[in-house]
Amino acid sequence: MTRFVFVTGGVVSSLGKGIASAALAALLQARGHKVRIRKLDPYLNVDPGTMSPYQHGEVFITDDGAETDLDLGHYERFTGVHARRSDNTTTGRIYSNVIARERRGDYLGATVQVIPHITDAIKEAVVTDTDGYDFVLVEIGGTVGDIESLPFLEAIRQLRNDLGHENTMCVHLTLLPYIPSAGELKTKPTQHSVKELQNVGLQPQILLCRSDRPIPQTERQKIASFCNVRPEAVIAALDVDTIYACPIAYHEQGMDREVLRYFGLPHETAPDLSRWEKIVRGVREPKGEVRIGIVGKYTALLDSYKSLAEALLHGGISQDVRVHMNWIDAEELEDPANLDELLRGMDGILVPGGFGERGSEGKINAVRYARENKIPFLGICFGMQMAVIECARSLAGLKKASSTEFGPTDEPLVGLMTEWARGTELLRRREGGDLGGTMRVGAYPAKLVEGSRVAEVYGKTDIRERHRHRWEVNVHYREVLEKTSLRFSGMSPDGVLPEVVEYPDHPWFIGVQYHPELLSKPFDPHPLFVGFVGAAKKEHLSREENV
Ligand code: GLN
Repeated sequence: MTRFVFVTGGVVSSLGKGIASAALAALLQARGHKVRIRKLDPYLNVDPGTMSPYQHGEVFITDDGAETDLDLGHYERFTGVHARRSDNTTTGRIYSNVIARERRGDYLGATVQVIPHITDAIKEAVVTDTDGYDFVLVEIGGTVGDIESLPFLEAIRQLRNDLGHENTMCVHLTLLPYIPSAGELKTKPTQHSVKELQNVGLQPQILLCRSDRPIPQTERQKIASFCNVRPEAVIAALDVDTIYACPIAYHEQGMDREVLRYFGLPHETAPDLSRWEKIVRGVREPKGEVRIGIVGKYTALLDSYKSLAEALLHGGISQDVRVHMNWIDAEELEDPANLDELLRGMDGILVPGGFGERGSEGKINAVRYARENKIPFLGICFGMQMAVIECARSLAGLKKASSTEFGPTDEPLVGLMTEWARGTELLRRREGGDLGGTMRVGAYPAKLVEGSRVAEVYGKTDIRERHRHRWEVNVHYREVLEKTSLRFSGMSPDGVLPEVVEYPDHPWFIGVQYHPELLSKPFDPHPLFVGFVGAAKKEHLSREENV
């Protein structure tokens, strides 16, 4: 028996529905329930893969190769449950499926309409692939009252009747603004937003109210009576210093108890939240600190590096240090004169994933700075590609080394497989002759070289990591690059695609073609981030000794 919890948001956007859903799931999980979380996004893009990271933040990649909303990253980090393609649906995908069916004649001449055809497709997306779970939490993107979320709310209204009210519930996240001149938390916006829901036939069972201070009993009573919920079901979601404090904070306010009570499930005993207590302690009271310089170009919207920042935090918890993240605009490093000023004092330098030529020379300069000054370095995806180009230019004498992502080049150190593998014997080794002309997205296996630093970091040689890139390091340059001190220490199992490079004669220098940050969890930090932050910690301590 799978129960569905629908999570909507009202009053304003950005209240943290994603984290609220993830935290509730974590609480239910801590009570031994099997949970899954999914998200319905009201925009018309078929998926967020083509949306600008400046506007929409990071694109989160699932094992099965879906490009999804960044909230799925929170879901995974809070629950450890790997998301699937079916866990993120957009209006664009729903419409494109319905229109494809219409063109095929599947509707047998019927007039195709929002109700029932679009709403049926939404209902199908909600319930599909949920067998075996005790709870499925469904987050609805956007804010109640938006025109574009109406079909989703209508689909939920119908689903509640289809599945039974006793098996479904609605949690509504709102804001209680504090008005200093009145000295009060205001409940009116919440009342209005619940009215919007009621207008479309949805009655929330729980109100999760974001607030910067506790809700006085009178206000709680008022919200309860105006919004038609139990006073105990008005839960304060007070501001917290770390998102990982949310499960504990919600539990203290009775959130999980109210959900279970509604479904008639046992809720008297307290869940085991020791995992979360440990993480929160780790975030709040670290013994040491490290300073990491992150050289990227989407630094104006840090949401575009969400998983990366979380993974660094996880690495920090495991090493008992606070990780100060210094976001450095790659273009400012194009002038080598700025390098020392902006990178001096960093205990680690990280070049993350990225697209396009702008900023690439600054990133290459940052790689060189880390290599020459023996500062721990982690290059991710684009960062690894830049590390290879830097090696080729500075150590292998290939002055023109570049990536075909930036245009034609005489020395394509990084290129599309269709460019450097076509017509070679390498191709025969690729399964099914796959030239990978499109993006490599999703989880792929790799083999690490026995005895390499990266193998030591992982403690194994067979790994599986998530990718999202179109260009690949050109393996034809392996020999000339390995004449320098660079090592190709991880390859695709067929030996064709370089997956990891490292300098064994450097304190800690690793570049990876995949995105390890996508797999890191607070309670299961990714080994590369544990290793990188650990190396930075060493660097920090030795720096302190030297002053
Ligand atoms: N732009 C590069 C590519 O497509 C790297 C992508 C990334 O860093 N995710 O190969």
